[in-house]
Amino acid sequence: MKIAIVGAGVAGSYLLNRLDGHQVECFEMRPQDKWYTVCAWGTSEPYISEMVKRAGFNFEDYVLHRGKKMTVDSGHGTFDLPLRGLVSYDKHRLCEDMLKGHTVHWGTQVRELDGRFKDFDTVVDATGMQRALLPKIEGDILVPCLEYQVKSKNFPWDDFYIKPYPGLTGYLWYFPLWDGVAHIGAGELHGAYKGELEAMLKKYDCEVIRKIGRPVRIIPPSACLPFSHGKVIGVGESVGTVFPMLGEGIIPSMQCAEIFIENIDDMAAYEAAVLKHTEVYTKGFKFVESKMAGKFNLMTSFPRLFSVYRFMAGNEKRFGMQTRLSDLIKLSKL
Ligand SMILES: Cc1cc2nc3c(=O)[nH]c(=O)nc-3n(C[C@H](O)[C@H](O)[C@H](O)COP(=O)(O)OP(=O)(O)OC[C@H]3O[C@@H](n4cnc5c(N)ncnc54)[C@H](O)[C@@H]3O)c2cc1C
Repeated sequence: MKIAIVGAGVAGSYLLNRLDGHQVECFEMRPQDKWYTVCAWGTSEPYISEMVKRAGFNFEDYVLHRGKKMTVDSGHGTFDLPLRGLVSYDKHRLCEDMLKGHTVHWGTQVRELDGRFKDFDTVVDATGMQRALLPKIEGDILVPCLEYQVKSKNFPWDDFYIKPYPGLTGYLWYFPLWDGVAHIGAGELHGAYKGELEAMLKKYDCEVIRKIGRPVRIIPPSACLPFSHGKVIGVGESVGTVFPMLGEGIIPSMQCAEIFIENIDDMAAYEAAVLKHTEVYTKGFKFVESKMAGKFNLMTSFPRLFSVYRFMAGNEKRFGMQTRLSDLIKLSKL
């Protein structure tokens, strides 16, 4: 098959390396020197390593910091989540390496399927939150995010740290990278972090290496239909593969790419498989949605919360952390 991949993010660059036997080209809107992977670069090493290996790369070469604990600041005190493989890694360099040796049309913003796509059998929309080639979603929720890559010796943390906003409308993070360098960032539905990150820059006397930001889609795949439009098919965040409770989309977008490959000859089967795989995302989203709307009730929402807990606790390797029901209940009360 002749396949065009629009978008050179994690989904697009991974897919490019997993479509052996097909003729594949990638179209990326940013020029090569301005392209960047906006992200905090946190993921689960034991799980992603196996996927990255299938694409022909050694994940260990990209690991920056191996976490032992994640400190959660509730605003009234802190508690620690034990980590089981959560790391920060150089996502940018890995994506960059995955693009090498492939045909990438840099600086090519695709807004419609014009003549250039005439000969392609399938066009993958891997444009993330842009969803540039698929119909707009009614009721889409894109949470604004801002992040700084900074250098400072003055941070009080040496491991992962997050501070959820009241009502779980988002959280602020500190993710260590290397030798005094970290990502500090925040995503919040109403942009409540405005000024807060800048105050941190001052307080900890940070040297700013890079300021980045883009919103993240938190509605699940079940709310991102349709996945296809003519010969266009969505893969990754364009069809909502972000775990809503964490805003975590690296592994989910790569898993979505794998499901695409498994069903490459049957797009209806692909859509059904993604929806099945992400059923728990819908439950997680309903939890987040009820919190955001101030309608959360622990008694009535407990079965949904418990399903999410069972999924996360049963998939430690996938999430890179130990999940305890007591911690989820603590978070649900914020
Ligand atoms: C600030 C922030 C921090 C995050 N931190 C984490 C984290 O620590 N861990 C985690 O697992 N997830 C994290 N996420 C989520 C994760 O980064 C995304 O869900 C994931 O990158 C989605 O991958 P993707 O390939 O589908 O889309 P993207 O990575 O967004 O890639 C889309 C690509 O398409 C290109 N593009 C867009 N429109 C067009 C167009 N019209 N034509 C051509 N090209 C186009 C873009 O330039 C981009 O290169 C974070 C998200 C944000 C915003």
